[in-house]
Amino acid sequence: MSYDNENIFAKILRSEIPCDKVFENEFVLCFKDINPKAKLHVLVIPKKQYVDISDFLANADTKYQSNFWVSVNEIICKLNLNNKGFQIKSHKGEDGGQEVFHFHIHLLSDS
Ligand code: AMP
Repeated sequence: MSYDNENIFAKILRSEIPCDKVFENEFVLCFKDINPKAKLHVLVIPKKQYVDISDFLANADTKYQSNFWVSVNEIICKLNLNNKGFQIKSHKGEDGGQEVFHFHIHLLSDS
């Protein structure tokens, strides 16, 4: 599947539609999920275009992958989750429940 520039997260990255921003740096944008499944439910998306986690793992260079995960850890620390329980999930493909085809991770916590 090729990347569709009109997906909703691409529009959020272009500021064409708003989001409830939690964190941003040069690599990622993090915002609250519009339909939260936990007390805290945020999404972290890379600023570069990847369809899903497989595309990201196969095609993002290792430095960018590293910067992405370091940014995720910054978000975890900013939200004071590093000493608490949380979940990280990523849906891959329609069969995996993916709805938005710009790679993202869900960060969820009920603590
Ligand atoms: P999935 O692709 O299955 O990982 O799910 C996409 C997620 O994006 C869902 O949890 C939606 O609630 C969320 N979502 C969809 N549109 C928006 C939006 N405009 N702002 C924030 N979250 C959204």
